[in-house]
Amino acid sequence: MRRRISLGVLLALVAMSASATHMNAWRQRAVSDPHGLIALVRHRLDQAGAALPPAQEREMLWGMGTAAINSNDDAALAEATLRLDSLATVDHDRLAAAAAGFLRARHDIANNLGDGVGEALKAAEQVLGDTDPSTVAWARFQLCDAYTLDEKPAKALPLCRQALAEYRALGDEFGMGDAENDIGLALAAQDSVDAAATAYEQARRYYAKAKAPQLVVMVGDNLSQMYLKQGHPREALALSRTSLKQELAAGRISDSLDSSTDIARAEAALGMHREAYADMREAVARARKAGINGQLSDMLRVESQMAEQTGHLRQALADEREASKLDRATDTQASRAIEAELAQRYAVREKELRITELERANELKDLQLKAAKAEAERQREQQRRQRLVNTTIALLVVALLLIVGLLVLLLRAQRRHAAELLALALRDPLTGIPNRRAFQQHANDLLVHQGDPHAERHVLLIIDIDHFKHINDSAGHLQGDRVLRILTDYLGCAVDPPGFVARIGGEEFAVLSPRIGLQAGVRLAEALREGVAKLRLPDDLPVERLTISVGVAPFDGVRCHDLSSWMRAADIALYAAKSGGRDQVQASKLAG
Ligand code: GH3
Ligand code: MG
Ligand code: MG
Repeated sequence: MRRRISLGVLLALVAMSASATHMNAWRQRAVSDPHGLIALVRHRLDQAGAALPPAQEREMLWGMGTAAINSNDDAALAEATLRLDSLATVDHDRLAAAAAGFLRARHDIANNLGDGVGEALKAAEQVLGDTDPSTVAWARFQLCDAYTLDEKPAKALPLCRQALAEYRALGDEFGMGDAENDIGLALAAQDSVDAAATAYEQARRYYAKAKAPQLVVMVGDNLSQMYLKQGHPREALALSRTSLKQELAAGRISDSLDSSTDIARAEAALGMHREAYADMREAVARARKAGINGQLSDMLRVESQMAEQTGHLRQALADEREASKLDRATDTQASRAIEAELAQRYAVREKELRITELERANELKDLQLKAAKAEAERQREQQRRQRLVNTTIALLVVALLLIVGLLVLLLRAQRRHAAELLALALRDPLTGIPNRRAFQQHANDLLVHQGDPHAERHVLLIIDIDHFKHINDSAGHLQGDRVLRILTDYLGCAVDPPGFVARIGGEEFAVLSPRIGLQAGVRLAEALREGVAKLRLPDDLPVERLTISVGVAPFDGVRCHDLSSWMRAADIALYAAKSGGRDQVQASKLAG
């Protein structure tokens, strides 16, 4: 990048200056307040008119011209140059002609217009043979400055060093500062970074001695570039920021663009890429606004690099193209190559980005697929669990129902069993009719529910087979059993309900006949006795007839007041029947 330094550099046109201090104040003001200086010169010139001594007018116009260069004020520069030209023509003032030439040279070089160095050489030619050493030093320095600006360091350096020596001989610290600064610029252009830094530091020291703090700050921006190259971006940033502040305050747009560029570079070196890019964009916008095209292409290239670093590839390409367009006249082939390379890089990068995006999209899809699979698996698992729970519940319900069913069955079986047991307990196993216990229950129930006291009495018949032992003894126990069943069958048929028949002993039976009264009871007993006697027995029995004796007792509630007294009464009657010869019925004498 071209580095233009706008050292006010005025002019130790000692020949035309009143005093060195006065001169230095002007030099500084051309840097710190160029607009103010221009306005002041115009004011003085207007006031003084033709009365102004030519040397003083020349000095003022030179000051105005350098201030105009510093502030990019082309109108003021044209005015100063034209006035110097007329001064030169009218008064044959060689110094004025040289001053106008140097101003034109600076303007042309800075704006890539015409042959700036040629102009400077012509100007120098007019004064280098001067007898005044300060004029010679001034002209030498202007020539050094022109070569430096035109980026011809090899030509510039000897001239600058010579100017430095001449200024030193004159004891002009301000001039020494100017010369050291240009030496720094030329060395920097040759990439002699350390030597350039030393020169700039030296220049700052001279300016400090010359009490020109503004210029110390201004050279700071040049030194900043070297610091950056030496790997001290933090120090570089601080210097350039200070410079920028001063340049903006002074309205030195061109210099401010350089400082802004240096700031952005330092920021980039510190890894602050976003800030660097933003600062550079702002600087480019400032350059466009001010209509400064001389630095624009270099600035655009810097912006392009920073845009690329921050991923703004389109902007990078656009900047590079614009810079190339601006430079086309000078370096078409090289810029095309750069542009082509950048376009290629851009295409490659874009392709990479597309691939990355595609990869990301694929990864995303992959993740979504995995998530969907996991979700499906989760749902399947949930369904499996739900099914398991349902099955378990169903099984439990079935098991419960089974258990309940079983319990019901068990209960029923138990009840049946209990009923059977009860039935067995109340039934005579041989004949299948109620046994003695059942008889007692039934008789007691009957006695408990007496009912109408005026109705007929209950009657109890106790029946005993006559000589049964004989059957057993002669025919055997089994035949005896058979006879017992034959009698049972008969009694079952002969006694109608509510009459109740039970086997109450070995061959003893009881018949309970509720509410029939003694007479009917006796009749029933007789009928039974006769019926039994008429029973047809099996042939293999040792007896032809079966006879029974019957004791009959009504329940009178007095002598027979409970079951045992009732049974005893019937037993006594039975005994009487046995005693009376058997095969007969006897009614209880006890009953009333
Ligand atoms: P009586 O006329 O005085 O009644 O004479 P008896 O032979 O019937 O005399 P007793 O009452 O002493 O005898 C009854 C017999 O009945 C005695 C016993 O062996 C028999 N006996 C009792 N229970 C059963 C039974 O279940 N089956 C058979 N075969 N015999 C029985
Ligand atoms: Mg007996
Ligand atoms: Mg008997």
